[in-house]
Amino acid sequence: MSPLGDMTIEEFRRAGARAIDWIARYLDQPEDYPVLSRVAPNQVRSALPANPPRHGEPMDAILDDFQDIVVPGITHWNHPGFFAYFSITGSAPGILGELLSAALNINGMLWQTSPSATELEEVAIDWLRQLLGLPEGIDGVIMDTASVGTLCAIAAARQAIPDLKVRELGLAGRPELPRLCVYCSEQAHSSVEKAGIVLGVGRENVRKIPVDDAFRMDVNALAETIAKDREAGHLPFCVVATVGTTSTTSIDPVAAIAEVCKRESLWLHVDAAYAGSAACMPEFRDVLAGCESAHSIIVNPHKWLFTPIDCSVLFTRKPETLIGAFSLVPEYLRTSVDGEITNYMDWGVSLGRRFRALKLWMVLRTFGSEGIAERLREHVRLAQLFASWVDEHPEFERLAPTPLSVVCFRACPTALASRDRNDAEANLDRFNQELLARVNASGEAYLSNTVLRGRYTLRLAIGNIRTTENHVARAWELLQRECATLMTNGDFL
Ligand code: PLP
Repeated sequence: MSPLGDMTIEEFRRAGARAIDWIARYLDQPEDYPVLSRVAPNQVRSALPANPPRHGEPMDAILDDFQDIVVPGITHWNHPGFFAYFSITGSAPGILGELLSAALNINGMLWQTSPSATELEEVAIDWLRQLLGLPEGIDGVIMDTASVGTLCAIAAARQAIPDLKVRELGLAGRPELPRLCVYCSEQAHSSVEKAGIVLGVGRENVRKIPVDDAFRMDVNALAETIAKDREAGHLPFCVVATVGTTSTTSIDPVAAIAEVCKRESLWLHVDAAYAGSAACMPEFRDVLAGCESAHSIIVNPHKWLFTPIDCSVLFTRKPETLIGAFSLVPEYLRTSVDGEITNYMDWGVSLGRRFRALKLWMVLRTFGSEGIAERLREHVRLAQLFASWVDEHPEFERLAPTPLSVVCFRACPTALASRDRNDAEANLDRFNQELLARVNASGEAYLSNTVLRGRYTLRLAIGNIRTTENHVARAWELLQRECATLMTNGDFL
């Protein structure tokens, strides 16, 4: 180690080779690890010194601790048995993109602070737009997460309200202002409500519209709620439709919602964080039907497009309104080319911007449109196969349609479901909770849960680049085995 300055290049090369070697082995054999971490609370923390070292330590010792202390506390999203939440994976090209971007360590706040970062971002976004079948004339910006993208989109919607002057005057202390109302379905992601909190809309004014049998927004109820709000003197300004809701991946009728928005002059934002990627498969392109009329759309390549977290693309056909909401350029950030180029700092909250476009561009180039479509198609096939196993089994049932790669279901052993007791549903909930805990403790599969129409629901999400039919079959075997064991124990009878 040099006394001042960075590691020597020789040390970097050697430690870098060890790190890459570890990553290569890990990607080759993620199943060497239990998918869900087994550490107890505080186990990782208590294994680490409470104080920073006074003298620098060798990288080999640090990498040893990474392997021995940090890795056991990792839940392996790269494990092919990871079926929880929206199962996401990076991919080798994405990891290389992250590595190079970390090495360059540029801040893409202005075009001038790294022209390639801005221009590659424009190219990657336009490639993604084409892959999704979205029309020309839609621009975009890469953000960290869909939550932040949706926040920025609703800020743009608020900016579009004539004469509100929110940038200048804020919202507080203005008794002349009506309540501002945002609409989304009751199945929408919590990020919409969070945006309402941050933007001074308030949770109460984020109206949750009921859904139909397939968990899609009821458009008549939307129109009625807007009309009631107008009658009460409130100010509707934005609707958030979801393409691929978090619990069931239901797809709101965006085209019909767009009609309402047009009639009512409301901003339409589409949260397609997970399911937008499905449009990369030509036969699923209609998941984005109606989105050509949306003012903004969020799609997360870090969810279902093999790009390491974080990478979320906010598309918009109204960049001037988004910029109008956020641009604030102090003297020290002015450059001689402003007006000729894009300065992405103007498109959102943060000034400093990571070079996320590099990994997205590398992923899209490595797999190509066909390679991406084939991988996604296989995920959908596996989910449909699992759904068919559930449907055919007398002791399991599906609790929602499976339009894409997520299956919502539960065990409902006849001996429990048919019991004449008034807490039969609560008993099934407890049974399924225990079933999930047992399957997840196996280390071979990790599923998550939700609640649908009051019922505790198991979710199996397929989105991992390494998941094969064998992994899905193994999860199904574990579910049946643990279900049978629980029934034999008799605790729930
Ligand atoms: N929207 C939907 C539909 C989601 O399912 C999620 C997360 O799962 C989000 C938004 C938030 O995503 P992010 O973690 O990128 O903020």
